[in-house]
Amino acid sequence: MTVRIGMIGPGGMGQAHIERIHTVIAGGRVVAVSDIDPGRAQGVAARIGGTAYATSQELIESPDVDAVMICSFGPAHEVDVLACIAAGKPVFCEKPLTPTAAAALRIMDAEQAHGTRLVTVGFMRRFDASYREMKALLDSGELGETLMVHCAHRNPTVPQGYTWDMAINDTAIHEVDAMRWLLGEEFISARVDTPKKTTLRFPHLQDPLVLILTSASGVRVDDEIFVNCQYGYDIRCEAVAERGTVSLSDHEVTSVRRAWAVTKKVARDHNDRFGGAFVTEVQEWISAVARGEHTGSTAWDGYAAACVCDAGVRALTEDGEVAVKMIERPAFYA
Ligand code: NAD
Repeated sequence: MTVRIGMIGPGGMGQAHIERIHTVIAGGRVVAVSDIDPGRAQGVAARIGGTAYATSQELIESPDVDAVMICSFGPAHEVDVLACIAAGKPVFCEKPLTPTAAAALRIMDAEQAHGTRLVTVGFMRRFDASYREMKALLDSGELGETLMVHCAHRNPTVPQGYTWDMAINDTAIHEVDAMRWLLGEEFISARVDTPKKTTLRFPHLQDPLVLILTSASGVRVDDEIFVNCQYGYDIRCEAVAERGTVSLSDHEVTSVRRAWAVTKKVARDHNDRFGGAFVTEVQEWISAVARGEHTGSTAWDGYAAACVCDAGVRALTEDGEVAVKMIERPAFYA
């Protein structure tokens, strides 16, 4: 069976997913697109031999669409995810599921009322080979208990429209989910440290900043967010445990030795660094849809990450630790 996919919001991320689905991923085909910019939808549809729909609602309800990918921007996700649940169609929604926990809760309520899991959230780091190796080692217990994790998330730059809160709810949200998954527990508080600001871009941003999270068992995670670092897309993570440490290695690249120097490439962007993870993530989703199963992060993961980010955003304007407010995990998401 070929899963017929409808793509909402084929911008940078959406078109990269289409390219993967049509070249290296098996079992799926993007047959329909819609975008708030009709010219973009028509252009992409013409290129892939699919149909452009005037609205996302029409795409979701089309009998020619088996499953939906949502790659529009965060605030637009909720309405389309709810429409997919109402139509009973599996939906892969790019992160963030929603920019606020309250909106994610509405999605969880609708999904539970529907009765089966339909929502997968695009937290791709869970599919990255090096993160998976790190988790397997920590889970094995060989290094003892994990005590701290040091993370960094550096982007070369961000667009003009990047607002002050996005450092947390659009950028740090990747570490928030990856650390919940790596540690297998929830965070109870968030705090933000504000170092000296870069003079090179956007005075309205606190850039860099350090988000500090504490887990239920007391593990401390610090996450440096530096979104105008100029030099590349650099993702770091080192877990410190009782008997040793484990870190992500650099991007899988060669190093060159010449003229008395060693040079190594730094990834350009998320597609460069996490290309393999995106392929595994989308392949696993399409294969699960074909089998009538659910895979990947759930709406609960989207909600829990949003709760931590809500606390992190508050910590940007409030002194000290901010408690993470979260409902108890419903049995539906156990
Ligand atoms: P983009 O601006 O390149 O593309 C967004 C597209 O959505 C555009 O074509 C835009 O016209 C369309 N759009 C906006 N509002 C819409 C609406 N209401 N209905 C339909 N279409 C709408 O942005 P992007 O970089 O591709 O990001 C898209 C999503 O992917 C975001 O949620 C972003 O956070 C996520 N993302 C994830 C990763 C990752 O590493 N997993 C990386 C980048 C972006």
